[in-house]
Amino acid sequence: MNQCGDCKECCDLPRIAETVTSCGNPFSKEKGKLCQFYSSGVGCQIYKDRPPPCRDFRCQWLMSQDGPDPKPHSMRPDKCGIMFSVDTYNNFLFWEGWQGAWRENGHMFHEILPFAEAHHIHAIVVDWATGEGVLCKDAESDKRG
Ligand code: SF4
Ligand code: SF4
Repeated sequence: MNQCGDCKECCDLPRIAETVTSCGNPFSKEKGKLCQFYSSGVGCQIYKDRPPPCRDFRCQWLMSQDGPDPKPHSMRPDKCGIMFSVDTYNNFLFWEGWQGAWRENGHMFHEILPFAEAHHIHAIVVDWATGEGVLCKDAESDKRG
């Protein structure tokens, strides 16, 4: 079963630095720009040849589906507007899929924040409008529209 469904947030929100597809073609994409190879209703048009960062990536919602505590459909990134991922430095990243998504639905992830704090993990909201990271505790009180 394709658990991602119509979600395409990971093909849109993050930057993918210069890499190559499995057939050796150069590949990169900008942050906050839907990948040129994504096609609505089809998905990834180069799925078999997609580059390593795409092969390796699974957001935390998708990972949870195979675990003991699968997160609900309402928390899928395209539904709640927040894609939760963990970067190579072990930071927790909450990528906004639309403006104000954290303020609207960040509460869905609040149970994770005390864990992050207790383990000295940075919990960061990636602002939809600017693409910049803001610590969650600061994003709580900011006045972004
Ligand atoms: S963000 Fe997660 S649920 Fe959405 S397409 Fe990517 S891996 Fe699948
Ligand atoms: S190559 Fe495919 S999987 Fe990777 S970002 Fe583009 S559409 Fe998504």
